Amino acid sequence: MSEADRSFTASIPPVAIVGAGFSGTMVALHLAETLPPGQQVLLCEAESFACGTAYGTGNPSHLLNVRAANMSAFADRPAHFAEWLETVRWECPEQIRATDAGEFASRGLFRRYLCSLLDRAEAGAPGRLQKIPAEIVDIARDGAGFVLRTAGGASHAASAVVLAIGNLPPPDGGHVLYRTNPWAPGVTKGLRQGLPVLIRGTGLTMVDLALDLRDGGFAGPVIALSRRGLLPHRHAPSRPWPTPELDDAERGSISLLLARLRWEAQRAEARGVGWRGVVDSLRPITADIWGRLSPAERGRFLRHVRPYWDIHRHRLSAPVADQVQAMLESGFLQVRRGRLAGAAFGHERVEALIQPHGAEDAETLTVQRVISATGVPSAAEAASPLVQALCGRGMARLDARAFGLDVTETLAVRDAAGQPIPGLWALGPIVRGVFWECVAVPDVRVQARRVADAVAADTRAAGPCAR
Ligand SMILES: Cc1cc2nc3c(=O)[nH]c(=O)nc-3n(C[C@H](O)[C@H](O)[C@H](O)COP(=O)(O)OP(=O)(O)OC[C@H]3O[C@@H](n4cnc5c(N)ncnc54)[C@H](O)[C@@H]3O)c2cc1C
Repeated sequence: MSEADRSFTASIPPVAIVGAGFSGTMVALHLAETLPPGQQVLLCEAESFACGTAYGTGNPSHLLNVRAANMSAFADRPAHFAEWLETVRWECPEQIRATDAGEFASRGLFRRYLCSLLDRAEAGAPGRLQKIPAEIVDIARDGAGFVLRTAGGASHAASAVVLAIGNLPPPDGGHVLYRTNPWAPGVTKGLRQGLPVLIRGTGLTMVDLALDLRDGGFAGPVIALSRRGLLPHRHAPSRPWPTPELDDAERGSISLLLARLRWEAQRAEARGVGWRGVVDSLRPITADIWGRLSPAERGRFLRHVRPYWDIHRHRLSAPVADQVQAMLESGFLQVRRGRLAGAAFGHERVEALIQPHGAEDAETLTVQRVISATGVPSAAEAASPLVQALCGRGMARLDARAFGLDVTETLAVRDAAGQPIPGLWALGPIVRGVFWECVAVPDVRVQARRVADAVAADTRAAGPCAR
């Protein structure tokens, strides 16, 4: 390092990243390569590093819902994950499943991949990455930079902060027999045989829970309840379909958009490509479509279309879809249309009042536990101390529907007045209210690169003194 470099870097506080799931880990890896020599990266994580809600599962039945070929951590090296899989295949062939729609690995293996990337980055630049195993509960401005406060009361100065706080889990709460957080440890444990378990929701999280219950020895039945009773579709072979060139009217109206998609899907079916190619073709323009929809049209999407969109967009790998089919056929899993209208809790059982779809009368179902699996909650429901503190200070605001944080096109966090805060960034599922399609690896990896490049450029532009 030159003398000039040394004097430059010595005066720059580190860049802090809050959250070390996929998003935060990837930003850290990129920054480790692009920040000026000597400037540190603080990677702050409340739970496990390089893991997050998605990849913390220890159940090998939980497969990725994206093909291995699309799960590279790097957009510019699309085969990276698939190549890494080759190096571990001999150890755990049962965790890599070949299907007619491509290979699907277990989510635990993806975690191993992420950990290996983080380990390599740490080894490659000793001292550059500093892991802070703590929950960050507050961030305040400090001159041109920031100071982060941990739940334990420690403080860390930073020149810039990246919020990668991801899928905020629902708060644990309610009753011991009514679990509101489907990802909490032990949520499928401690059951006895004989009485059903009721799951609210029939999506991907319900499927994870049903597999956990089955693999944990529970004999069933598991009753999954949702208004429409829709299960996710399965991945199947499909070919790429050209991204439709939508006109302004289609971009502004959910009904016109749907009509166009149906038309595209019919054409794709007729040409042997199938509807999956059409759904996948929207990925590059989904954020733009979402960004241009009026609040009223977004509301229409959320009320009427979202459940259908979700089951077509977020699909099950074939091995998992086969297991769902088997669980349905054996009666272990029962899917019902309706809603939970109330619950009376006894010592070891719950009398769940179910309002079946289309029926006049509610019915009572006696179950031993209710687990809510209705998806990642909005930031308003999740009640993260950090988000509350940032919003309380006026350093952040929620997006219009309170899904998460409001950010600019370039991922800068907007303050209470809507102005971007220099040096404060956010990415991943926590900004899904702004982009919608930014929760899965193929989208998040692009955001991670963009944020890292912006932070590095900012640091260079700020020079030795600023921030
Ligand atoms: C169950 C599940 C399965 C999924 N499966 C797939 C899949 O197969 N393929 C795919 O592409 N996508 C999948 N996804 C989408 C997933 O959102 C992304 O792949 C990706 O994991 C998101 O990463 P993230 O780091 O933004 O969020 P998260 O994984 O949620 O990580 C956020 C991290 O931030 C930490 N954190 C939060 N607040 C604080 C704080 N205040 N202080 C310190 N740390 C904090 C959390 O502890 C957590 O580790 C899945 C999502 C879920 C929920």
